[in-house]
Amino acid sequence: MSEDTMKLKFLGKIKITGEMKVVTGMHIGASKETVKIGGIDSPVVRDPLTDLPYIPGSSLKGKLRSLSEKTLEKDLFTVSRNPDINLHVCTDKHCEICRLFGSSKKDENTKDQKNIPSRLIVRDMHLLNEDELLNIDTGLPYTEWKFENSIDRISSAANPRQIERVPAGAKFKFELVYDAEEESELKEDITRIQMALKLLEQDALGGHGSRGYGKVEFENMKYTGYPKKYYVSGNESLILENELVDDILSGFIGEKNA
Ligand SMILES: [Zn+2]
Repeated sequence: MSEDTMKLKFLGKIKITGEMKVVTGMHIGASKETVKIGGIDSPVVRDPLTDLPYIPGSSLKGKLRSLSEKTLEKDLFTVSRNPDINLHVCTDKHCEICRLFGSSKKDENTKDQKNIPSRLIVRDMHLLNEDELLNIDTGLPYTEWKFENSIDRISSAANPRQIERVPAGAKFKFELVYDAEEESELKEDITRIQMALKLLEQDALGGHGSRGYGKVEFENMKYTGYPKKYYVSGNESLILENELVDDILSGFIGEKNA
């Protein structure tokens, strides 16, 4: 087998589910093209079918990635399609960041495009307690808005803007799915995900975090293991529904030859 052949391995999947509570008003912005509500300068992203605010999986995944990059003190690069975004990408398929979050980069020697598929899927997060939010009286469905005043440093002119927020108390269902591929990297990957979720609780999700927006807390976390032999046999008794993640991880050891 040559050096750059990538052999696919699959041990199974580990699902991490739970609830994310919004502790301070959160703003995850929608693009201007999708804006329907007049008067709000900076609206939140909403499900076009239900009109409920939701959190795109890409927003949570990007945040977990950048927090993980920071703790590992990785080199960051600008991404050509969006020069405002700095992230770590490389061509090492065992890199702690790229194997978990995925990467796409040209190899410096061969100039070939190298893609490392992401082991982690982050689902879109949907609102759990919409009934509670329906009663808030803000003139906007399920959300609140807040004035922010920024001062132009040169002209000293005030630039007031209305920013829409998902209010404190909103709860979202979250679901992450991790593809178990390497026995030796299993524990490290799961620990990295747990660490990123903990770091996020001391950081912020969405915009204007330094102004106090977007404090979140994770609750009722649950781990479920789906070993390869479950998919092969369809036998549901092989699903590992133990809440202790270490028991699930040890259930995956030895799956490779099963
Ligand atoms: Zn990397």
